[in-house]
Amino acid sequence: MSNGQPLTAICPGSYDPVTNGHLDIIRRSARIFDRVVVAVIREPRHKQPLFSVEDRVSFIAEAVAELPNVGVEVFAELVVDFARRFGARTMVKGLRAISDFEWEFQMHHLNRKLAPEIETLYLMASPQYSFLSSSGVKEIASFGGGADVLVDLVPPSVAERFVQLYPVPRPGAPVSPEE
Ligand code: ADP
Repeated sequence: MSNGQPLTAICPGSYDPVTNGHLDIIRRSARIFDRVVVAVIREPRHKQPLFSVEDRVSFIAEAVAELPNVGVEVFAELVVDFARRFGARTMVKGLRAISDFEWEFQMHHLNRKLAPEIETLYLMASPQYSFLSSSGVKEIASFGGGADVLVDLVPPSVAERFVQLYPVPRPGAPVSPEE
């Protein structure tokens, strides 16, 4: 608590879809802050999402249902304006590798310029998730990585949806009519 207000953090991202790596950051944030708001970008500017915003939100909502101090919201404004709207002075982000650092370094300074009162806090990805990205999971699923592979990478509702989207080919089935 700070001045009688719950200490609130936001975890922003496109979550297309949420992975176990995102959930690890969200759970760890929920142990530090009184309240965590997972902020889902409605229309990411730098990529066309595979999943609708409704799906992206419902995958997260289901996965965090057991965390009483975590909520999920959609935003379509500057992330710092969203943080202000929810009374958050902290944005939490996960850092996987050096490749994340460069982009996060830029965004950190831009956001500080826009809102000097808001800090971005970086949590190091847990080693078992440091290779995990939504785009990597989408690639695996689209090439037939089935539920047995996906179950370690994404929550069950996401794994199920991928299996519906990309049914795993039957063993021995030809991949092209010529074969
Ligand atoms: P963006 O659209 O900016 O790439 P994402 O929706 O992919 O954002 O991710 C939101 C946040 O979660 C970012 O801070 C990102 O670094 C972090 N993140 C993504 N995958 C992982 C992971 N496997 N472990 C820890 N943090 C992660």
